[in-house]
Amino acid sequence: MLFHDSPEHAAFRHELRQFLAAELPAGDWNMTNDRDHVAPQAAAFTEAFRKKLAQRGWLTMGWPREFGGAGASYMTQTVYMEEMSAAGAPGAYDQGVWLAGPALMMHGTKEQQDRWLPDMRVAGVHWCQLFSEPGAGSDLASLQTRAVRDGDEYVVNGQKIWTSGALDADWGIMLARTDAEAPKHRGISYFMLNMRAPGVTIRPLVNLMGSHHFTEVFLEDVRVPRDCLVGEENRGWYIATTTLDQERSSINRVVMTRSTLEALIRYVRETPALRRRAEVRHELAERHLEFEIGRWLCYRVAQMQGEGKVPNAEASVSKVFGTELQRQMGITGLRVLGLPGTIEPGSRYAPLHGRVERWALAAPSYTIAGGTSEVNRNIIATRGLGLPRA
Ligand SMILES: Cc1cc2nc3c(=O)[nH]c(=O)nc-3n(C[C@H](O)[C@H](O)[C@H](O)COP(=O)(O)OP(=O)(O)OC[C@H]3O[C@@H](n4cnc5c(N)ncnc54)[C@H](O)[C@@H]3O)c2cc1C
Repeated sequence: MLFHDSPEHAAFRHELRQFLAAELPAGDWNMTNDRDHVAPQAAAFTEAFRKKLAQRGWLTMGWPREFGGAGASYMTQTVYMEEMSAAGAPGAYDQGVWLAGPALMMHGTKEQQDRWLPDMRVAGVHWCQLFSEPGAGSDLASLQTRAVRDGDEYVVNGQKIWTSGALDADWGIMLARTDAEAPKHRGISYFMLNMRAPGVTIRPLVNLMGSHHFTEVFLEDVRVPRDCLVGEENRGWYIATTTLDQERSSINRVVMTRSTLEALIRYVRETPALRRRAEVRHELAERHLEFEIGRWLCYRVAQMQGEGKVPNAEASVSKVFGTELQRQMGITGLRVLGLPGTIEPGSRYAPLHGRVERWALAAPSYTIAGGTSEVNRNIIATRGLGLPRA
């Protein structure tokens, strides 16, 4: 593995940094997905910023050229994500581009590709992912939402939960059961759902931060045209898994931590009462070490993908390590700042403008989203260590 940038990556990193220095004013734009604490002007800024990323072709840089992407390597995409996340840039991750797009490119018809991909390329629409249900999270194949064929349409009934960003979404990728008799993985289909269709009700769910980033989505007799079915009926499980397997190195998880760690280190350096305390110094040093390890674990995943290998246990190692580091960073922040660290943004008494408080509340959810730490540890034990299933 290479532990330094190639000349091409170094040049790209430089270009990204110049762009960010010119286009991204200081601020915590992307700190915690904290929808309710984002001022309207920040939401407008995020929209405009996304469009700039799209204009430069960066949003879809990983797409093949035939679909209007740049065919960028996994490593180049990792450099892009690393720089965007380190700067706290908003809008660099896009559920349409990263989840719906690959499904369409691999399994959609030409008509479906022409219909949805162009808008994704120019950041013209918002997408969400309607997979999880109240009784189906880690065991996703147990999902119960039903789609019943009726002429040229499917009639969908069910409930989705933990849907991120649904309130802003125009379209969603949705899994629904189309054959209740088949073994559970074989009766699921993959649909594009118009989030404004009659029968779709979106209710905000308030999270730990008091924010409405999550939603639950109720589907009552929603009529989904047949041309919104992606791939074959009852093969949706395999589409979902192949596209989720495309997930990149997830460097953003680790690097998001860096900016909070760096802010905390600056604060400690400037605070005489803190900077000489051994336990504070050791704790910060510990997080710094972990950040370095986490970063290389992500690079290992990208390198394997670039070599055409499928990182399996390696991706789980990077996921567990990166998200547990995020959680630990919140605990470190609170330990270092003490009680003032728990003051919300907006108060003049909040150190670091409440950044640690937001981080400490947001970070535990990262160990759950996209596969919990426990489930990933199972993968590491079985596929990585060759241990039998429990
Ligand atoms: C921030 C965030 C964003 C999300 N966004 C979306 C989204 O946009 N769209 C979407 O569809 N979903 C989304 N989710 C849902 C997410 O995919 C699920 O929360 C996750 O898959 C876990 O499922 P669950 O919540 O049902 O927990 P469960 O699967 O019920 O797990 C409960 C507990 O049991 C443990 N557990 C479960 N199975 C095992 C096992 N086999 N071995 C050991 N322990 C086990 C888990 O680790 C966990 O601690 C999001 C979640 C979060 C936190």
